[in-house]
Amino acid sequence: MSKPLIVLTGASSGIGAATARLLSADGHPLLLIARRTERLEALDLPRALCRKVDVTERAQVEQAVAEAEQEFGPADAIVNNAGAMLLGHMADQPVEEWDRMIDLNIKGVLYGVRAVLPGMLARRGGTIINISSIAGRKTFPDHTAYCATKFAVHALSESLRAEVASAGIRVVTIAPGAVETELLSHTSNEQIRTDYEAWKESAGGALDPQVVAESIRYAYRQPQNVTVREIVLASTGQET
Ligand code: NDP
Repeated sequence: MSKPLIVLTGASSGIGAATARLLSADGHPLLLIARRTERLEALDLPRALCRKVDVTERAQVEQAVAEAEQEFGPADAIVNNAGAMLLGHMADQPVEEWDRMIDLNIKGVLYGVRAVLPGMLARRGGTIINISSIAGRKTFPDHTAYCATKFAVHALSESLRAEVASAGIRVVTIAPGAVETELLSHTSNEQIRTDYEAWKESAGGALDPQVVAESIRYAYRQPQNVTVREIVLASTGQET
């Protein structure tokens, strides 16, 4: 039997790209969303619709999901993975960086949910996987605004899970510790980047994104009547 469509945001690098490869290898058609479409196309995956979408623009998300569902049938799952970590100090971090994270890490996730949820409710089934962070459960130095957005991802996921449970829809939160991706490179404060790299090294290195992708696949592959509510994973050497 052919496998259903999965929507994956932030598929152009890191955790998203690793997850796209795994889910494609499992035989799923995919909607791959990011702004750098050349990176999506370079993954070269079969039955993968690559769309240039800024997830902070709700209409773009809706349109891409509608197009993919037209081609591959209803979306059985969405992985809301697109996100940014812009570390900084409250007193001098450019406020635009807070705005960017709030728009991307919170509103982007909500828009992804809205794009698939009415259909899932009508079909009474589906899986919503939101990528939060350990920084969505506890705080870290220089992470104030980022933590605020990731705590929001945890909160909205918990609340949504209760709201849609009786419709047979699963909501999963994935909370990784440090993962070796491009994420840190967007932090504008050079000293914070240097300190973070040193912290990762002292922990014996960050997780491989492949490991996080496998945790996403694990949660998705459970029977529909089993919800893995949350997976928290970090490299063994990460103390905090
Ligand atoms: P990357 O920076 O490698 O990936 C981020 C992805 O988000 C890219 O594909 C990027 O694509 C996409 N993206 C960014 N802005 C937008 C936008 N406006 N619209 C659409 N897509 C966008 O980082 P990771 O793989 O590490 O991050 C993935 C998720 O994992 C994030 O939510 C992050 O917070 C979370 N996470 C990461 C950890 C880590 O240590 N790496 C730890 C815990 C959680 P493009 O630029 O092409 O649009």
